[in-house]
Amino acid sequence: MSAGLKICIVGSGPAGMYTAGAIVKKNPESQIDIIDKLATPYGLVRAGVAPDHQTTKNVTRAYDKVMENENVRFVGNVGLSTDVPLEKLREFYDVVVIATGTPKDRNLGIPGEDKEGVFGAQTFVYWYNGHPEYRDAVPNLDINTAVVNAKGTVAKEVARILMRTEDEMMHSDLAEHAASEIFKSPLECVHVVGRRAPENAQFSSKELGEFAELTSAVTYTDKSILPDTFTSEDKKEEKVVNTNLDLLRGFEQTHPGIKGRSIFLDFLASPIEILGEDSITGVRFERNKIVDGKAYSTGESYVLDCQLLVSCIGYEMGILEGLPVEKGIIKNDEGHVDEGLYVVGWAKRGPSGTIGTNRIDSQNVVERMLADFEGGGDPTKKGHAGLDAWCEEKDIHAVSFDDWKKIDAAEVERGGEKSPRKKFVRTRDMLSIVQEKDRPC
Ligand SMILES: Cc1cc2nc3c(=O)[nH]c(=O)nc-3n(C[C@H](O)[C@H](O)[C@H](O)COP(=O)(O)OP(=O)(O)OC[C@H]3O[C@@H](n4cnc5c(N)ncnc54)[C@H](O)[C@@H]3O)c2cc1C
Repeated sequence: MSAGLKICIVGSGPAGMYTAGAIVKKNPESQIDIIDKLATPYGLVRAGVAPDHQTTKNVTRAYDKVMENENVRFVGNVGLSTDVPLEKLREFYDVVVIATGTPKDRNLGIPGEDKEGVFGAQTFVYWYNGHPEYRDAVPNLDINTAVVNAKGTVAKEVARILMRTEDEMMHSDLAEHAASEIFKSPLECVHVVGRRAPENAQFSSKELGEFAELTSAVTYTDKSILPDTFTSEDKKEEKVVNTNLDLLRGFEQTHPGIKGRSIFLDFLASPIEILGEDSITGVRFERNKIVDGKAYSTGESYVLDCQLLVSCIGYEMGILEGLPVEKGIIKNDEGHVDEGLYVVGWAKRGPSGTIGTNRIDSQNVVERMLADFEGGGDPTKKGHAGLDAWCEEKDIHAVSFDDWKKIDAAEVERGGEKSPRKKFVRTRDMLSIVQEKDRPC
């Protein structure tokens, strides 16, 4: 039996939390430490999910339940690599599970990408969601036109948040510093440009529908390229695409010279060059055509003048010392990386799927892990005592789950009656309300 394993999960996002939950269920004797480089748990649920989508964040209630288990600890403000090397974690624990997500924006790989005013989606979203590492990645929003590249959910969220009014965001937890920049911005127009056709684009009908509800911006699209109907062997897909086509038909017809705040949904175009001297002044796009479901360039190009580009083309792992990274994820065999080393979530599969997708995936990896450790763990491993001693020695101010609850309560109180919370966006401010005696290390 794999009783009494000492396990460290690196990352407290959905994948890390579902991993902890599955271990608690199948192997309740295990000691689980969930470390996170941030003082706040739950990864993209806090720092990614749109601030005006509060109900999605209710999933954290299930994660709170996992944290209530006496064998599970949150050890926040402790980063893998930055505070503790992987080899130390492997020395202390029988099992280390990497659940760091994919924290780096993927590059577009086109000329001009280093100009001011060009942002990856994660940087931009982390900024408006108050991620401490991106607090100072302040975009200049004293602009009239922005381009959001790609047509996935995140692109639509970025466009929507840029166009929402203060009243519309009243019940959100948009970070205060971002709110002040967004609401005073004279931004008039956001172009959301995707490389494929409307019927191939990855839309969620709910979010497309939200464009129609915006109080101060009108959404436009070129209806001449919308097919009358879409058929597919996949009936679920067929239904979603036809709903989206209906929604698009409900938008205004694109025509130049429109006044007021606008969102333009453009299709069949890929960015090939970012224009400007030091700062972006425009993006050159190449027109695409679809052949056998794939987008190919037609050779035609056009320029969209803009002063901000948010590129939402995906994320990757980046480099973490001691981990084999290939094609933007940690190289793994169904979650197994090396002896006693596993990976879950976006770090394992890449950045796709919803919060719920991580549940089954984490459960499968836990099953494999427990089977690998059927003979039990190594009784000489120090487990959390090893990590605590390490934090003590290195003077690392780790944040416990009780500490987080204090930070959480303070944020909720600061939010007042209307907003669910006013986030702290500096780790030092979070630490200042955490008392010494509650430190896990
Ligand atoms: C902008 C955006 C919006 C989204 N909105 C939705 C939505 O509305 N609904 C939905 O279902 N899905 C949504 N998703 C998808 C969902 O967030 C992901 O499926 C999910 O968060 C992936 O979980 P994860 O645990 O693998 O990674 P993450 O959620 O990224 O969690 C990784 C955790 O690891 C920590 N970490 C990273 N590096 C280190 C390190 N070196 N040391 C220690 N800790 C580290 C991070 O701080 C973080 O807490 C969204 C994604 C994005 C990008």
